[in-house]
Amino acid sequence: MAAERDVQTMIDTAAETSSHEGARGLHYEENLLWEKERGDESGVDFPDIKGIDLRTGVPERGAIGLPQVSEPQVVRHFVRLSTWNYSIDHGFFPLGSCTMKHNPRLNEKVARFPGFAQAHPLQPVSTVQGALKLMYELQDILGELSGLPAICLAPAAGAHGELAGMMTIRRAHEAQGNTHKKIVLVPDSAHGTNPSTAAICGYTIKTIITKETGRLTVEAFKEALGDGRDVAGMMVTNPNTCGLFETDIQEISDLLHEAGGYFYCDGANFNALVGKIRPGDFGVDVMHFNLHKTFSTPHGGGGPGSGPIGVTEELRSYLPVPVIKNESGSYRIENERKESLGRLKGFHGQFGMHVRALSYILSHGADGLKQVAEDAVLSANYILSQLKDDYHVPYAGPCMHECLLTDKVQKEKGVTTLDIAKTLVEYGMHPMTVYFPLVVSGALLIEPTETEGKDSIDHFITVMKHIAEETKAGNTEPFHNFPVSTPRRRLDEVKAARHPRLRWKPE
Ligand SMILES: *Cc1c(COP(=O)(O)O)cnc(C)c1O
Repeated sequence: MAAERDVQTMIDTAAETSSHEGARGLHYEENLLWEKERGDESGVDFPDIKGIDLRTGVPERGAIGLPQVSEPQVVRHFVRLSTWNYSIDHGFFPLGSCTMKHNPRLNEKVARFPGFAQAHPLQPVSTVQGALKLMYELQDILGELSGLPAICLAPAAGAHGELAGMMTIRRAHEAQGNTHKKIVLVPDSAHGTNPSTAAICGYTIKTIITKETGRLTVEAFKEALGDGRDVAGMMVTNPNTCGLFETDIQEISDLLHEAGGYFYCDGANFNALVGKIRPGDFGVDVMHFNLHKTFSTPHGGGGPGSGPIGVTEELRSYLPVPVIKNESGSYRIENERKESLGRLKGFHGQFGMHVRALSYILSHGADGLKQVAEDAVLSANYILSQLKDDYHVPYAGPCMHECLLTDKVQKEKGVTTLDIAKTLVEYGMHPMTVYFPLVVSGALLIEPTETEGKDSIDHFITVMKHIAEETKAGNTEPFHNFPVSTPRRRLDEVKAARHPRLRWKPE
């Protein structure tokens, strides 16, 4: 009987299932390089140089405490450590809101073309016309995809784009003498970067309540807006962090505009809309793009991120610099503009990511990008349809590119969202996003993306069903202990955060 199965059997089942993805493989424990040193042996075997005068004038260097180990030891050390790092190249990585999609190798190849890879940001512009043309084309295409024609590519991540975007809005209000506008409206389900960005820009945050429906309602928005006199704008993600499209967004943005506020759209979920609809058409004034989410450039250890922003024609002059200009086929870098809020990033932003994103966009074409959004939404709805009877679904109906479940049913048997996530690790998969959005208790936010094949999605569904079935049968013990076959097991996360040991000291 299932109820009598012991812990070891379940651990073995996990091992069997996960080795399907090769997740157990050969695991090595790995100590620090310093701990590999033996006595005072040297890692280098050059003899001391005698009788030579230093010609550089630089003082002779003393010992700097590098570990004395051989080259093969160093290589193995870092290669082994690298195998501890789970990535999208290892396996399924359904981290909701983060869009961990495959990074096409074509983009990597193009980014390594010497003309792109070896260009120096201080080269005379006449010698980098091709690179500038690439940036100009990316600006142009992002403008077309979003319906926000003025683009600045410089911000280095989504959160940095939010800062650039909200500073653009602040700049516009200042130019119009709207200094009394001090409030920014943010839904309670928002990503943490939204309220923190508004706060850093000196705004007071007023929360729009969405808890009951998972969506913004005109009623709740009006409540938060009040007479709107002091409202500078709102920051809204669409589709939102519950994976739902904001169906009342047009009416809400009209009301906001009537009150003289600007609509900042957090574009992290743009991969659900790309090629289908344009945020500029539902009232967005400013938006950031996460090139490392929607447009497949690497992130999560392989970064850097890149967070260009787009704004309406009305706000163009307040954009940060630099912006690439095209003067009859001759490209230049606009580094100064009187109304601009100025510069937020060294040089021109993450140029290598601009190359990859444009490569992605052009290799997909208009029809391909539309299919990206459609397939991302299809994958998430497939998971939702398969798991809706096993897990609690807080907001009924189809979802967009990610689906939201909770641990409500499993928690009655003591199995929590954390246990479910840690069990997925045991089974060789990265967990989904957990406990976010904050408005949903025990949230499990799952984003498969369009690059995941049906086999791996089905494998994930099988494991999730297995967890639900064993929990129902009362076999919950292993779920509190997983993962057990990883190099590290459950950590005391509080202790790790409160008392981090950041420096190795010899015993
Ligand atoms: C990822 C994300 C951000 C922040 O983007 P970064 O590139 O990680 O700085 C903001 N909002 C939402 C909804 C996100 O998913």
